[in-house]
Amino acid sequence: MTLRDDVRALLTRRGLAAHRDRGQNFLVDAGIAEAIAAAAGLSPGDAVIEIGPGLGSLTRALAARAARVVAIEIDAGLVRALAEEGDLPAHVEVIHADALTVDLEALAARLGPTVRVVGNLPYSVSTPILRRLLDLRSHLSGWLVLVQREVALRLMAVPGERDYGSLAVLHALCVRLERIRDVPPHGFYPVPKVTSTLVRATPLESGPLDGPDEVADLLDVERVVRAAFGTRRKTLVNALRAGLDPAPPVETLDAILVRLAIDPRARAEALAPATLLAIARAVVRSRTPDP
Ligand code: SAM
Repeated sequence: MTLRDDVRALLTRRGLAAHRDRGQNFLVDAGIAEAIAAAAGLSPGDAVIEIGPGLGSLTRALAARAARVVAIEIDAGLVRALAEEGDLPAHVEVIHADALTVDLEALAARLGPTVRVVGNLPYSVSTPILRRLLDLRSHLSGWLVLVQREVALRLMAVPGERDYGSLAVLHALCVRLERIRDVPPHGFYPVPKVTSTLVRATPLESGPLDGPDEVADLLDVERVVRAAFGTRRKTLVNALRAGLDPAPPVETLDAILVRLAIDPRARAEALAPATLLAIARAVVRSRTPDP
């Protein structure tokens, strides 16, 4: 029996259907599951948090390479199927929870010093999960995610490219990204309409955001960067005024751009992540009352 046959037989036996709204496209190519686990760069003492184990195709390959695997699955039927028929070794723990709300920080702390997140991410929530991982970066040695190719392009875009936006900027400020490989639709059941891309993220050792309260800083920066990209046809000053509440005075924004030697007609899509960070910090400072 191939992995494809196993997955289909298990779904039928348990009366389960693949739910599109939960992004359930299961890996059915054992070679690809192995290749993903190998790309995670695990050492025998490492722990893995897997997001969305589904029927365990990737979980088993990860378990063969890690000291512990904690897999977070939202679907109760899949959690039961995994527990009863998943053929998982004893060092795998499956948690029935939503990866968007479960306390990942506490989980990472419990698992020890070298924790990686790995996941064939559900399409429907891949962007918010990626965003959560950025907040967790100081607790993780990295993450390896399979996402829609379009999401990978948005993650890795550089200034001037159509896909360049806040997702790329926030990632560039926090992690180094590597595109590992594409996975064609027929590697999954049901077969999705899109190609997937495997991307590895490694937190920057001393990134531009590192500091005492990096999560709060990232949130502030995110607000400003999102506003900057919010209305793409507007200049930076007009986009920031339209996207921030309360709108900063024009004179404040003009003064910030002059101080940073940025053309006042500039648009966010042409500016490097470090420049957007400098603007964001200046805007945040201008809104903070002097002590
Ligand atoms: N890892 C499995 C594989 O590769 O075959 C399944 C991957 S499938 C693309 C995504 C999995 O994530 C599904 O099992 C789905 O039920 C689960 N999932 C969807 N939303 C989730 C969430 N918010 N939290 C945790 N798991 C979620």
